[in-house]
Amino acid sequence: MKIICIGRNYTDHIAELENEKPENPVVFLKPDTAILLKGQPFFIPEFSQDVHHEVEVLVRINRIGKHIQPKFASKYYDEISLGIDFTARDLQAQLKAKGLPWEKAKGFDGAAVVGKWIAKGELPSVDKLNFTLNKNNETVQESSTALMLWKIDELIAYISQFFTLKIGDIIFTGTPAGVGPVAINDVLVGKLEGRELFNIKVK
Ligand code: ZN
Repeated sequence: MKIICIGRNYTDHIAELENEKPENPVVFLKPDTAILLKGQPFFIPEFSQDVHHEVEVLVRINRIGKHIQPKFASKYYDEISLGIDFTARDLQAQLKAKGLPWEKAKGFDGAAVVGKWIAKGELPSVDKLNFTLNKNNETVQESSTALMLWKIDELIAYISQFFTLKIGDIIFTGTPAGVGPVAINDVLVGKLEGRELFNIKVK
């Protein structure tokens, strides 16, 4: 399986990183080894002094598809979750400054938290999902998929122009504002529509 991530999909997060608003979705990949194993803590990698949390809504692909039209995209997933796209912001900044790929800053072991999956039918419209990230019992990120620049079905259509989507592939749909550093002993709790989907300890 592969992990496909979208960058710069919420206007407020583009502003906080002083990035330009993209013409098309920003797409990058994480290897499958980036997935944080269930029940494991997240270990801050020694190559970074500034790892940030990015809470994101996740979609799991349930059938193979290429060149998917937006109007059919909803047939390609039936589960939604919430996760974290951990980012070594210091390393990413160095790589961006040199015009180099981001993978080392985004694809390291444990950099993809995948929460519990919820059937789409148990949730309101995927374009109106409220979600939060709490760090040590304080809300640090709070948003709604209604604020995405590109909605989930548009993302699937766009991504599938480049990559064949296969069963089990996971899409990270971008983070809203409020990203920030994590420290040892932090506890990160993600909730989608009030349901706790992950609870991670940082070590
Ligand atoms: Zn992200």
